[in-house]
Formats: sequence, C-alpha cells, structure tokens
Amino acid sequence: MKTNVISFYHEFHCLAGACPHSCCRGWQIPVDEATYQRYQSLKGLRGYSLRRHIKRGEPHVIRPVLFRCPFENSDHLCQHQCNGQTELMPLVCRVYPRHSVSYGSFTEVTFEASCPVIAAMLVKQRKRLSFLPYNQTVDPVWVMENEDEDFLDFLLRDREKILDFLWAKERPLHEQMQAIYAYTRQENDWISRNHMEHLPEVVLSYDPTVQGDYAIERPGGYAFYPIATIDRMLLEHVDYGNLLLRSPKLYRLIRRYDRTFRKMNVKEADVFFHEKILEMLATDPTLEDKYRSYYSYNLQQLYLQAYETYFVLRQTLLATLYTQLLILFDLLDYLENGRVSDEKRQSEVLMLLEIGCRHNPKMTENLFWVIRNDFL
Ligand code: SF4
Repeated sequence: MKTNVISFYHEFHCLAGACPHSCCRGWQIPVDEATYQRYQSLKGLRGYSLRRHIKRGEPHVIRPVLFRCPFENSDHLCQHQCNGQTELMPLVCRVYPRHSVSYGSFTEVTFEASCPVIAAMLVKQRKRLSFLPYNQTVDPVWVMENEDEDFLDFLLRDREKILDFLWAKERPLHEQMQAIYAYTRQENDWISRNHMEHLPEVVLSYDPTVQGDYAIERPGGYAFYPIATIDRMLLEHVDYGNLLLRSPKLYRLIRRYDRTFRKMNVKEADVFFHEKILEMLATDPTLEDKYRSYYSYNLQQLYLQAYETYFVLRQTLLATLYTQLLILFDLLDYLENGRVSDEKRQSEVLMLLEIGCRHNPKMTENLFWVIRNDFL
C-alpha cells in the first residue's frame, strides 16, 4: 500500500520529557480493538492493572486520572514506551501526532496540531502544502471502508480543484470560504440524491447568481458562522465540566470571548467580528495566508474522509469552523494586547483550539450538531 505524507513530515521531532504539554493529558484516548484484545489476553496482575484503566462500554477508551493518562510516568513520558512495550500503547498513541488514514490503496499521513511542535510548525506555514510519497509504512489509525474507486478519484480531483481556487487568492479568505461552501453544498445535494452525473456541472464561483440558493450574504463576512452559533458551541459544548481544571488557558480565552461579545446583539457582534479581523489582518500582511494555509491544511486532512460517508459538505463545514475559531482566538489576543501575538503565543492558541475543540470525537459530533441545528 502506498503512503503519502504531508510535506513537512520529516521536520517533526518529539520533545519527549521536555514537552510543555505531553500528549498523555487533556483528551479522550481511544483503545483500538487489537490493543484491547492484547489487554484481555494478559493474565494476572499485569493484565488486571491494564484492564482496570479502560472505561466500561463502547467505544473502549482509557479512564483518565486527574485528566491524565494513568500510564504517564513522573517524567511525563509514556510508561509503556519507557519499558520498551510499545505494543501495549493504543495505536493512536503509537502513531501520534501523526494522523494516518487509509483509503484502501493508499494511506495519507498528516499531523495533529494538538502537539505543540506541530502547532509551532503549522503557524509558520503560510503557503500551500502538498503530499509526498514515503517509502515506509505508517499504521493507519482510521480506515475508510469503501470500494467506490470512482468516488475516491472524484474526491482527489475535487480537493485539488478547491485548493487551486483557494491559492489563486483572487478574493479575501472569507469570500473564498463562502464560495467553497456554496460549491460543496451543491455537490452534496447531487451526491445525496445519487445523481453523481451532475457533479461536473457544479461551478466553483464567487458569483452569487451562480451560487444560487447556497450563496451566503451577511454583513460580517468573516462571521461565516454567526457569533450566535459560535456562542452555543463555546459556552455550551467546549466549556463543559471542569474546563478551568482541564485547560485553564482555554478557559480564560473563552471567558474573554464571553466578556467581549455578550454585550452586543447578534448583528452587532457579527459586524464587530468582521471589522476587527480586517483591522488585525491589516497589521500583518502575512496573517491572512496563515489562516488560508490552516484552512487548506484542514481540507487536505478532512476532505477525503467523505469517502466513507459521501458527506462532502460536512468536511468543508468543519474546516471552516476550525479556521473561524482560530481567527477568533487570535483576535481575542489582538483585542486584549492591541497587537498581533508573537508566533510562540499563536502556536499555543492553535494547540489550545485543537485540544479543546477538536481532538475528542464526541466534541466534533457536538459541534457539528450545533451546525446542523443552527446553520444548515
Ligand atoms: S505532544 Fe508532541 S512533542 Fe509532546 S510528547 Fe507528545 S508527540 Fe512529543
């Protein structure tokens, strides 16, 4: 099976014990079936001490102790890895921060920006990234179950077409995200009605008359998701039980968000958001490309995952959401300090976003549920 890796793949080096975050904390760790069965087959105290740290029920996940993996040792390293027993690590931990997805004939490998090294690398990327062939195997954490090769070919071509459109940079990013939304929404309609033959007729365009019923016309262009929708996501879903303990920095960002926007009505909030972003972008001409690059990276990571669900729109909606949240969190720093933060803080903000709003599959479902209810 071929493996393709994101272009900065070889630049990653784990900080191990010197990591300011450690990947053993702050999120739900799924245990894949093979590792779960390995735990079941181990006899005596060894087996028991592994099994008792798995939550009852499905899917199998590690039961954290004070928000940490119970297998994290006092040097903040994985005890299994230190013992040379990597086979006892769940697959996701063995591969992390790589994000590896198999599409049958090939595997694509990107990275999770919840790792501080990756977040720092991504913040520096202000350009289009690509995939490169890799002559080694990376175990896929996710396997897309489908044999519809024609659809996979379509997704590959469509992803390139969308990225070409994005990197032609003919319009501001918010207009590009709206055009890509309108395009994939039309595609999605044809796909869901099983009329794939109409897909070539769908045009990726900035023209609202071409976008038709899918055009979004709002006073605040960067408020792709209105602030009222973002409110529900952040205050009801991201800020759930003990966020202050789990992630004090994210908690403080969300409180700052609440203080900034709660005094405005819905329309005022959207306009304020949009105008302040334009002001922030004007202070650093490369900043828009940082967000374009992150959005583009998200599309590279997520778009093909529609192979299993045929739900292309979901992938662009999530890519747009993560990008809007990153812009929002950077904006909160900008409003607080009167300037764009340095790259160190920008990468911390990206990491906080990825851990708090993205890394946990249940969180993704909750946020997408808000999109379905409020937006679609
Ligand atoms: S979060 Fe990243 S740098 Fe830190 S220990 Fe995990 S893989 Fe290494």
